Amino acid sequence: MRKPVIAGNWKMYKTIAEGVDFIQKIAPMAASASHCDVVVAPPFTALAAVSQAAKGSKVGISAQDMHWDKEGAHTGDVSSTMIVDAGCTYVIIGHSERRHDHGETDEQVNRKLKAALAEGLTPIMCVGETLAQRESGGTGQVLKTQFEGGLAGLTPYDFSRIIIAYEPVWAIGTGRTATPEMAAESHHILRDLARQRFGEAEARSVRILYGGSVKPDNVGGLMGQPEIDGALVGGASLKVDSFAALINYPRT
Ligand code: PEP
Repeated sequence: MRKPVIAGNWKMYKTIAEGVDFIQKIAPMAASASHCDVVVAPPFTALAAVSQAAKGSKVGISAQDMHWDKEGAHTGDVSSTMIVDAGCTYVIIGHSERRHDHGETDEQVNRKLKAALAEGLTPIMCVGETLAQRESGGTGQVLKTQFEGGLAGLTPYDFSRIIIAYEPVWAIGTGRTATPEMAAESHHILRDLARQRFGEAEARSVRILYGGSVKPDNVGGLMGQPEIDGALVGGASLKVDSFAALINYPRT
């Protein structure tokens, strides 16, 4: 049985005070949500204060990225050691906005994943195709390339500590959501890749989240798909009420 994860990616939104205020409001609402894990990913500047505010609550804290080196001459970067120091237990790696805005490659994603695992973090590795890739029938190949490149050299045990997020680029922040069936089809491809590369047990237990304009009014349909083990949410994670509704998605 895979425990769902509802994760909010705040991107470049919220000051320290706004982040702390959000946690103070969401923590009591999340307290009774035993059906899923709850995670928020504040910007770096708010990580320490938000982690402090979330202490003792059900809300886990994630960074949105990290460098693979523990320290060094990398202006503007933050390491795995630093995000753990700030209270993170998760880290998002390979988000499409990092791949596109910063030219992040599968090889860099792989280095970051290995460094995150070595630090004891739970990486949330993002994969997904662009609209052009989908329209040219390339979704399966893109997922395979990102999956294999990002996870190169990992053992089945390493893989068992990772969460995958399927995030079709054309659905992120656009208001366009993959239908539950489209998302499930890609999740199925990813689970098959996991089976081939890491084995049956790992494929069955890996949690694969969907991300791309998830909102309170479409989360029920998505979570109704047995292949979908949760959501990575941008826009709708910024307001307490909508994030609370996502945590309490309709369940049968
Ligand atoms: C994301 O940032 O990972 C995301 C899916 O954003 P949104 O929910 O706004 O599409």
